[in-house]
Amino acid sequence: MKIYETADLIRNTPVLSSIIEERESVWMNPDLVSFELAAKDLELSMKDIDEAEERLNRFAPFIATCFPETREQGGIIESVLSPIPKMQEYINEKYQSALTGRLLLKQDSHLAIAGSIKARGGIYEVLKHTEDLALEHGLLSFQDSYEILAADKSRSFFNDHTIQVGSTGNLGMSIGIMSAAIGYKVIVHMSADAKQWKKDLLRSHGVKVVEYESDYSEAVLNGRRCSDMDPNSYFVDDENSRNLFLGYAVAAKRLIGQLKDQGISIDSQHPLFVYIPCGVGGAPGGISFGLKQLFKNCVHCFFAEPVKAPCMLVGMATGLHQNISVQDIGLSGQTHADGLAVGRPSGFAGSIMKPLLSGIFTVRDGHLYDYMRDLIEMEGIFLEPSACAAFTGPIHLNQYPETKKYLMENQLYGKMDQAVHIAWATGGSLVPEEIRKEYMGTYLKELITL
Ligand SMILES: *Cc1c(COP(=O)(O)O)cnc(C)c1O
Repeated sequence: MKIYETADLIRNTPVLSSIIEERESVWMNPDLVSFELAAKDLELSMKDIDEAEERLNRFAPFIATCFPETREQGGIIESVLSPIPKMQEYINEKYQSALTGRLLLKQDSHLAIAGSIKARGGIYEVLKHTEDLALEHGLLSFQDSYEILAADKSRSFFNDHTIQVGSTGNLGMSIGIMSAAIGYKVIVHMSADAKQWKKDLLRSHGVKVVEYESDYSEAVLNGRRCSDMDPNSYFVDDENSRNLFLGYAVAAKRLIGQLKDQGISIDSQHPLFVYIPCGVGGAPGGISFGLKQLFKNCVHCFFAEPVKAPCMLVGMATGLHQNISVQDIGLSGQTHADGLAVGRPSGFAGSIMKPLLSGIFTVRDGHLYDYMRDLIEMEGIFLEPSACAAFTGPIHLNQYPETKKYLMENQLYGKMDQAVHIAWATGGSLVPEEIRKEYMGTYLKELITL
């Protein structure tokens, strides 16, 4: 049921008029405050992130045992941070971006096991649940090496337990693959946007895939209902899970060392800008939350959403969070960016980000394919459409009046030559070759139709 009138919403939140017309826009968050002030009211802290990181370290020997591709990194699932100077030069030329400082790409697109940012939150949540169960049932103690979880005895225990999740694709892949490796029965409830190859890949891991003709929210609703009926089933709640959120936040701690390796330090004279594609809000929220804890007022966090599914923007700008959907304001929620095809945001992520987020950019699907092709041509790196949304940030930072005002008001103009910009690439390495070709071809078609 609607609890407001659209005309009233637009009067109170002028950015909605261009959002409703599906125009590319930026919304700057009027509730952003200094980190010191924001931190007083946050329900999570650095200590929670430290604990999540330690838990991932405990599981590293188990992960290295089950997933040989992680052995070189000792069972730690982490992605590289790459300078992309050719891309920077190219966007400055092609889109007149005037981006100074350094542009880097955080390649969560190439994270082991799941090939997307979901290898952080999704896998962490499965591991947390596994540790809880194993400790409770005496299968494990903190003195053990977690490798013992790969033994038959442990696997047969977990086979009496089920994990369920609702997903547009990538979350299902990360939860499904990791849960199957531990021995769980897994059921993934997939929304209509989910790509066929993602369903096929999951089934090849023995995961049960339930398909829906409706969107993500419906898949989540039904998944939760199915899970609640089974006392041995655990539902991964993408919209509200603190665990998922903290799994993402660990990325921030690991980024410090990676920046140092590039000779970069972030301080008041060297600001950091990050641009992260946003669906329900957990992944970009968790990562931004971690970055704010570490870099405080020196980091400026931006999300990017498709023009047809800007759920976090609509939720945060109106203050209605999970009580409003993009369909409520007449948008379809349908987008080629399947990872971002979410109509209703996480109220939990939205409320944590309220005092921390700088702003949200929206991007048209057609441009995602442009950016995809630009990056392949310039740097030889392939990303899926959802991940390409990140580039709308660095491309438009110096172009919107609203972002220019932000740079001015935060005394950033004098520092932009020393700024560091990170486009957070959220997925792509598992996309099959024939689908990549399709995407590259779509580029031309999309320019005409979208
Ligand atoms: C899930 C996903 C996101 C966004 O994460 P949310 O937690 O849904 O906001 C971005 N990009 C890709 C490729 C994803 O799979």
